[in-house]
Amino acid sequence: MFASLSPLHRGLLAGTALLLGPVGCTSVESTRVEQSRISTDDKPAVKPKWGIVIHGGAGVIYREHLSSEHEAEVRAVLTQALQAGHAVLAKGGSSLDAVGASIRVLEDSPLFNAGKGAVFNHDGVNELDAAIMDGKTRMAGAVAGLHHVKNPINLARAVMEKSPHVMMVGDGAEAFAKTQGVELVDPKYFYTQERWDALQRALQSERSTQPSSSLPPGYDPVTGDHKFGTVGAVALDQAGNLAAGTSTGGMTNKRYGRVGDAPIIGAGTYADPGCGVSATGHGEFFIRYTVARDICARVEYQRLPLSEAANTVINDVLKKAGGEGGVIAMDSQGNVATPFNSSGMYRGYIGEDGQPQVAIFKDGPPPIEAK
Ligand code: ASP
Repeated sequence: MFASLSPLHRGLLAGTALLLGPVGCTSVESTRVEQSRISTDDKPAVKPKWGIVIHGGAGVIYREHLSSEHEAEVRAVLTQALQAGHAVLAKGGSSLDAVGASIRVLEDSPLFNAGKGAVFNHDGVNELDAAIMDGKTRMAGAVAGLHHVKNPINLARAVMEKSPHVMMVGDGAEAFAKTQGVELVDPKYFYTQERWDALQRALQSERSTQPSSSLPPGYDPVTGDHKFGTVGAVALDQAGNLAAGTSTGGMTNKRYGRVGDAPIIGAGTYADPGCGVSATGHGEFFIRYTVARDICARVEYQRLPLSEAANTVINDVLKKAGGEGGVIAMDSQGNVATPFNSSGMYRGYIGEDGQPQVAIFKDGPPPIEAK
């Protein structure tokens, strides 16, 4: 649509769109996305906008169960994570470094289901998974079933850069962590009362009336909340390179070494030169529908705007299949999409202007601009 406009007009149009916040992704986003549809032989008049988009999990997040103190805490940590990523990008750092910086903040918080706040599995143990991917080179690193790694995203990066492999699991992954000087902690570090209580409630409900298979995964029979607290980030750096990363404790009460989508490249985490995605939700669906790669393939092969590709996969394909969750996605022009088919998704975006924007609900007020 912009092809018939002069470069100046295209620049003005895209610039106007960029002044408006992308989190929430409505018409503003589609305007921004139009800019990315300019074919490669018709050079964009506006430089790609660098920035970072993050999530802290999707699910049924009931307003009435989210106290204002808890909401404020969540927003504060999301803001801190955005600022950590922005600090890297602002000084010309790589999208990989920005993704790592943001995710470490979220992993170190007890509020999200990753690192410190990881959920417990059926045996009362925390089992962590993570992955990172470099869009430019398509190099990737993934780890699963960790019990001692403080920041699984760091180990995923080490697997990518310091080994010939893409994925390592369990004891082997932790032995590799030792050789790389990746910080290990006593498993007690991951204990949080809230996650422990959630496991006890899940076990209790399994023992009583409802068979566990009839309960949605992540469902808490006491609060009624149905939450996936995985964290993730996708960034575009000043050199125009994308990276994506995801880190999780998986799902409460998981058994038998279950691994979700987060560390599966192409399912919960994916980046190529044109598109990056990090997912949160019911991992089994995201694996079977190769959600992250499907979104980027639609952008690559069908030349769809990012928002359309991401929306179709989350709100049509996945929803019809019964898969709950959402994604954050970014393309090589800096367009952002954050679709989810649950009632909420903790999410945020920060661009060149350094103004963090954080949002939780679908139908909520416009994203709060953190000061
Ligand atoms: N996708 C994660 C998993 O299935 C859960 C989450 O998003 O919190 O392991």
